Amino acid sequence: MGENENTKAAESFDLIIIGGGTAGLTAALYAARAGVSVLVLESGSIGGQIAVSPEVENYPGIPKISGAELGMLLKKQAESFGAIVRLESVKYVENVPEIEGDEACGRMLKRVATRRHLYTSKALILATGAANRRLGVAREQELTGSGVSYCAVCDGAFFRGKDVAVVGGGNTALDDASYLADICSKVYLIHRRDEFRGNPETAEKLSAKPQVEMVMSSQVTELLGSPVLTGISVENRVTGEVRQIPVSALFVAVGQQPQNEMFRSLVDLTPGGYIAAGEDCMTRTPGVFAAGDCRDKKVRQLTTAASDGAVAALAAADYIRSF
Ligand code: NAP
Repeated sequence: MGENENTKAAESFDLIIIGGGTAGLTAALYAARAGVSVLVLESGSIGGQIAVSPEVENYPGIPKISGAELGMLLKKQAESFGAIVRLESVKYVENVPEIEGDEACGRMLKRVATRRHLYTSKALILATGAANRRLGVAREQELTGSGVSYCAVCDGAFFRGKDVAVVGGGNTALDDASYLADICSKVYLIHRRDEFRGNPETAEKLSAKPQVEMVMSSQVTELLGSPVLTGISVENRVTGEVRQIPVSALFVAVGQQPQNEMFRSLVDLTPGGYIAAGEDCMTRTPGVFAAGDCRDKKVRQLTTAASDGAVAALAAADYIRSF
C-alpha cells in the first residue's frame, strides 16, 4: 500500500506515460490518436533532455529548431489528440489486482502515485530518459551552482565574456562548447581521450573557432577556488603533466545516468540501470512498456526515442484493447 492511500479516489486512465520527453510525448500522440485515454506525467521540463538543447538539426523534416520549441510542439500535438500532460513527480508505481485483494482476478492495474494524486491505468509506459552524470571530482557538489553547472544553456549567460571550460567528449559537450563559444571569451573543451565520441563534423566546426581550445587526453583532477570556482587542475593522461586553468565556470557534460530504481518491482534493470526491454519495448510485466533513453539500447537519439514512443504506444493500445 502506498503512502497516499488516504487521498481521494484514484483518477483512471487507459494509459499512463511517465516522462514528457520525446519518447513519452510521441507515445502520447500515438496512443491518444488510437483512441486511448492518456495521462503524461513529467517531473521536470517538457521535452526532457532536448528542453535545454539550443539547436536541434537532426530531426527529420525539421532543418533547425530549438529543443524547447520542439518539446512544446510535441506536447501541443499530443494534446490536440486528447492526451493530458501534467507536471507532477511520480513517487511510486505498483501493479495491483483490479479487484482489491483478489490476486487471482487475473487483471492487474497499474497504480501511480504522485505527491498529491493517485492514478490507476491499464497500461504504463516508462519514458523517464536519464539524468546528468556527475564528474566524480572532489567538491563537485559543493561548487554546483557556484561555478559548476550541468546545463550550458541554462547557466551560460551568467558567464558572458568570461573564460569557461566544458568537460566531456559526446554530442552534449560539443554542443555546449559551441553554444558557449558565442558568449564567452574562451572555452576550454576537456576530453579524456584523443578522439571525440560526438559527431566529427561538429568537432571540426568547433576546432575552427579561435576562442575554443581542445584539451585532449586529459581529465579534471581538482576544482579550485572557494566559495566560487576560480579554476581547474587538468592532468594529461599520456604525459602526466598537470596544468591549472583559470576559469569562472566548468560545464560538466559527461553523459547521462538512468533513474529507474523506482520501477525495480515491475521491470528488470541492466547493471547500468537501464530497463531491460527489446525493440518491442515490452518489459517482463504485462502492460508495462519502456521507451526512449531509459531502455537498454545502443543508439540514443531523438529519432530513436520517437520511434520507441510509437512502438510502445501501439503495443500498449493493443494490450488495452484486449484487457
Ligand atoms: P555520451 O555520448 O555518453 O558522452 C559522454 C562523454 O563523457 C563521453 O565522451 C565520455 O568519454 C565522457 N565521460 C563519461 N564519464 C566521464 C568522466 N567521469 N570523466 C570524464 N569524461 C567522462 O553523452 P552525451 O554527450 O550527453 O549524449 C547522450 C546521447 O544524446 C548520445 O547518444 C548523444 O549522441 C545524444 N545527443 C545528441 C545530440 C544531437 O544529436 N545534436 C545532442 C546531445 C546529445 P568517453 O568518450 O571516453 O567514453
